[in-house]
Amino acid sequence: MSGNRIKVTIRCRQCGERFILKGRRDNGRIETGFKQCICDNDHDLEMETQE
Ligand SMILES: [Zn+2]
Repeated sequence: MSGNRIKVTIRCRQCGERFILKGRRDNGRIETGFKQCICDNDHDLEMETQE
């Protein structure tokens, strides 16, 4: 077992696109592998997690 699997919803504040990813909580950080939105935005994002 390597950390808790969580569902992560990322919404781009620039274009409104949503991404649903599987993530992992790692020492308080959430690791999803998400890099950037299709509109090239990589910082103006809303992140919501579900255990
Ligand atoms: Zn976007």
